[in-house]
Amino acid sequence: TYVVTEACIKCKYTDCVEVCPVDCFYEGDNMLVINPNECIDCGVCEPECPAEAILPDTEDGLEKWLELNADYSEKWPNI
Ligand code: SF4
Repeated sequence: TYVVTEACIKCKYTDCVEVCPVDCFYEGDNMLVINPNECIDCGVCEPECPAEAILPDTEDGLEKWLELNADYSEKWPNI
């Protein structure tokens, strides 16, 4: 899965949302998250993010962000 990380906070762009083929982005007050159960790992959102906030969960140190994406995607509205 891909994971939205800290650089997303207060970013106003939603280019990532527009390209996602499975609509798995969810929106909170300050950032977006990806539902890891819905993401099909296509990777098309990663280069679209102007803040470089979207990373594959295979990168080191993203456990906390993966957990946050999983939690909040169940609570926040789909965008
Ligand atoms: Fe959507 Fe693909 Fe990005 Fe996953 S990797 S969030 S499926 S665009």
